[in-house]
Amino acid sequence: MQRLSAPPLGTHRTAAPEETEALAARLAAALEPGDVVLLSGELGAGKTTFVRGACRALGVTGAIVSPTFTIGRRYEGRVPVSHLDLYRLGDLAEEDPGLLADYLAPERVAFVEWPEVAGDLPGVVARVALAHAGGDAREVTIAP
Ligand code: ADP
Ligand code: MG
Repeated sequence: MQRLSAPPLGTHRTAAPEETEALAARLAAALEPGDVVLLSGELGAGKTTFVRGACRALGVTGAIVSPTFTIGRRYEGRVPVSHLDLYRLGDLAEEDPGLLADYLAPERVAFVEWPEVAGDLPGVVARVALAHAGGDAREVTIAP
């Protein structure tokens, strides 16, 4: 089936959080259930800001904040959405190996910060790399 919109692939420069959110909304428009988006970049680069913009565009209302004391949060938008932060997965996976299954499912769209620790994840359709570019500027690269 043809996708309604093409994802904004390539490198973009944003000058404010709102611009990063707007770019994320364009990517969100191209996502379908089961799709997984990986986010990389150092602390404060804007990964969670990007996810917030994508979640809003997917119809999530209410606060979208970084998962703490858990590896992820689940939201109900027009599609079910998962937001994972696997920074501390190493410890948690020992406690419950089935942890990711609650968040990655065929009916959900998932955004994963710090995905490296999880190894290869199924369903990845985009890789978003964010980097500081001076002040509030960020370089955001979206790759398939
Ligand atoms: P991460 O999840 O990568 O640690 P966050 O999204 O939590 O990053 O934090 C990014 C911080 O940088 C936020 O406080 C945000 O308001 C700020 N910021 C400033 N300029 C930008 C921009 N152009 N894009 C994204 N965030 C920005
Ligand atoms: Mg974050």
